[in-house]
This record gives sequence, C-alpha cells and structure tokens, in this order.
Amino acid sequence: MTQKIRAREESILRVAVAGARGRMGRVTCAAILDDKDTALVAAIDSTFSFEDPGFPDSERCFAGLEQALVGVDIQVVVDFTTPASVKDNVLTCVRNRVPVVVGTTGLSTAALSEIEAEASAYDNTPVLVAPNFAIGAVLMMKFARSAAAHFEACEILELHHDGKLDAPSGTSRLTRLGVEETWRDRGIDKEPPIHSVRLPGLVAHQEIIFGGLGETLTIRHDSLARESFMPGVLLAVKRVRSLQGLVVGLENIL
Ligand code: NAP
Repeated sequence: MTQKIRAREESILRVAVAGARGRMGRVTCAAILDDKDTALVAAIDSTFSFEDPGFPDSERCFAGLEQALVGVDIQVVVDFTTPASVKDNVLTCVRNRVPVVVGTTGLSTAALSEIEAEASAYDNTPVLVAPNFAIGAVLMMKFARSAAAHFEACEILELHHDGKLDAPSGTSRLTRLGVEETWRDRGIDKEPPIHSVRLPGLVAHQEIIFGGLGETLTIRHDSLARESFMPGVLLAVKRVRSLQGLVVGLENIL
C-alpha cells in the first residue's frame, strides 16, 4: 500500500480525499488506492487518528485541507465531508487552483453561485458537483425528464440512512429541477413535492411517481452499497481537470 500511495510516475493522478474517515470517504480512499491510474497522496479528516488501520502512512494524513495543500502536491481533491464544511473546502481548493470533485450534498443555490463566481475569478478552476455518482441514479434523472414531457403530476420520495445530515437530498433536488425545467418548457409552472425518509438499514434510494389518467409510472433507483458510487467518482476524478469552472451533475462528463 505504501508503494501505491506515492505517485510513482507522472502519469499517475495525485488525489486527496477530504472526509477520509467518513462512510463515503473510506470507500473512496480504497477505490483511489485500488485504481492503477490514481494515487492517494493525502487523506484529510477533521477527526483524523493516526492509529486508524487501513489508512496510508501518517505523513499523508491531515486534519485540515489547507495543511494538506501546503504539504503535498495535489492534482485533484475529492470532497465527501459535511454540508457545514463543503463550501469552505471548495473555495479553498479554488483559491489554490486545485480542481475539486464534490460529492457532499446540501450546497444551497447561493453557495453554488458563490463557488461559480470564485472559480471564474481563479482561472476557471474546475469544480464538479455531483449529488449522485451512481450511473443508475443519473439515468433515473434522465428518465424523469422524459416522463415529465408526458405527465403533468409527480411526487418524489427519497429514502436514506439515518446518519444523513441534509434533507431533502441533493439527488431529489436535482431531479425536481429537471422535472421543473421540462414542465416550464410546456408552460406548466409547478414544483413537485419531495418526501424524505431517514431510517437505519437504508443506503440511498429514490422513487419518482408520475400520475396520469388511470395510470401511474414509478421510476426507482437503489444504491445498495457505497461501492455503487465508485465508478462515477473515479470517472469524475479522471475527467474533472478538463472542465472549465463550475459544472453540476455527473451527466456532463458521461
Ligand atoms: P460522514 O460519514 O459524516 O463523513 C464525513 C466526514 O467528513 C466525517 O468524518 C467528518 O468529520 C469529516 N469532515 C467534516 N468537516 C471536514 C473538513 N472540513 N475537513 C475534513 N473532514 C471533514 O458522511 P458520509 O455519509 O460519508 O457522507 C458525506 C457526504 O456525501 C454527505 O453530504 C452525503 O450526503 C454525501 N453523499 C454523496 C453521494 C454522491 O453520490 N454524491 C453518495 C453518498 C453520500 P466530523 O465527524 O468531525 O464532522
């Protein structure tokens, strides 16, 4: 593992993970370590403990993003922290001109505007915000847009584990935006309701139920394990440097 965490060749992408001790951060660190094209050069978490098994050597572990950026040559940061930390982390990356992949949800529209303005002020530093990295979830949002072209009523049900801090989920908000945009083009001015469920045992699930004359259509996606997000995370890590400024949604790089 020690060999793997050092960028042995220029072609290996040097990646840092913020929120490395969290549920998503741990799986992301493992995926970066496993991929032959990426190296985990910094693991960052506010609760970092050097005795934690499964993490790289202590010189690569940091309690804060700024310390990591000073101490290590980082090409891409992945953020899986908390709604309270994510905006400051992204602005720190942008001001250091380091491309960032944001998986953390809960960023408000105002926060996204601030990030967009700052990214453009700092040489269009790439920022990819993806509320859901699962390929099936991206397809679910695409199918919901298609269905909204034919139905005029729908409700969104999002279900997550009870440790999730934000509600409604970022995926449900992005799904709602897609439906609203499609409806607006049809002259329909409505906002689909979102219902949030938080229960132990769940990971990340969503249903969009469309209702019409004597029929319903349900589009459902289930992430049964956090590994479901990793192909999307790795794709984002490898492609983010080719983007310009703020981009929202994994579909933009598929
Ligand atoms: P989590 O288990 O609470 O992990 C977050 C970790 O980040 C915690 O260890 C936390 O420490 C740490 N942290 C907080 N502020 C930090 C900072 N400034 N710098 C470094 N580390 C910091 O949360 P999770 O379940 O992994 O989820 C993380 C985020 O990803 C959530 O917003 C969740 O909704 C989102 N998510 C996105 C996707 C997607 O596909 N995009 C999929 C699943 C989850 P403390 O305990 O001290 O706060």
